[in-house]
Amino acid sequence: MAERIDGRARAAEVLEGVKARAAAFSAAKGRLPGLAIVLVGEHPASLSYIRSKEQAAGRAGLYSETHRLPATVAEDALRRFVGRLGEDERLDGILVQLPLPDALRQEEVLAALPPEKDVDGFTTLNQGRLLAGERGLRPCTPLGVIDLLRWHGVRLDGAEVVVIGRSRTVGRPLALMLLEEHASVTVLHSHSQSLSDDVRRADVVIAAAGQAGIVRREMVREGAVVIDVGINRIGGKLVGDVAPDVAEVASAMTPVPGGVGPMTVAMLMANTVEACTWRS
Ligand code: NDP
Repeated sequence: MAERIDGRARAAEVLEGVKARAAAFSAAKGRLPGLAIVLVGEHPASLSYIRSKEQAAGRAGLYSETHRLPATVAEDALRRFVGRLGEDERLDGILVQLPLPDALRQEEVLAALPPEKDVDGFTTLNQGRLLAGERGLRPCTPLGVIDLLRWHGVRLDGAEVVVIGRSRTVGRPLALMLLEEHASVTVLHSHSQSLSDDVRRADVVIAAAGQAGIVRREMVREGAVVIDVGINRIGGKLVGDVAPDVAEVASAMTPVPGGVGPMTVAMLMANTVEACTWRS
């Protein structure tokens, strides 16, 4: 039976580390690292995500403020609002919760964020820095996945890693970060023709497709490590992308909930304290 890779436990450790750094920064500079969360509209999942982020900021001893704007806000007004937050010296990190309502263009809104405060790592500049291998703020979910793998002692150097999903926020940056770890990476997506065969070869399988049960027991090699990024709401229950019986063949696996989710939030706090240190 697979060992459980406990994202909650690791996230608590990460938040303790952030708290110590925040306290040291505050003692030296006379202010806490600050995070602003911007929520546009009332997307139910977003409401629950921002609550977790507010709680984590509190646990990590950061200053945080949440701004709720109506779904009807004009793109220009939102850009100006985000730009003003960007100029606020108390704020080191600004997070615009995605997805935005359909009428707003995500790229245009994110472009109003100063890259040095883009703690989600979604601006074009920070994504370009990742591609170029330069220092920058990296997206939180991929950071959390890499941290969990390291924490569990999984060797990535030379490992065959399959990532299912190529989104700009999860799969794609994760693939680049795995390359930085010297893994051999295969990225699969909805046009891939040999998903089962590719997954079967992998030492590490990372599912980030948003398709419940896309990774099945018979696809996974005995002893592989499986990271489940997916969050799917099925019949009022949260499930991942990996079928539960994969635990019978994997050597280690993350649960949903309690795996990658808490790590994403913890890494947002880690990015905020990192941004704060760089700015000062
Ligand atoms: P997107 O919908 O943006 O991307 C999904 C990706 O999966 C796409 O690249 C898509 O391919 C691919 N895909 C979809 N169906 C299949 C399929 N049948 N076979 C192979 N590939 C497929 O989602 P996100 O990247 O934003 O999120 C992925 C999942 O992770 C979601 O469940 C989301 O809720 C969850 N998530 C969890 C987080 C956490 O903290 N735990 C944080 C962020 C996301 P194509 O590009 O061809 O369309």
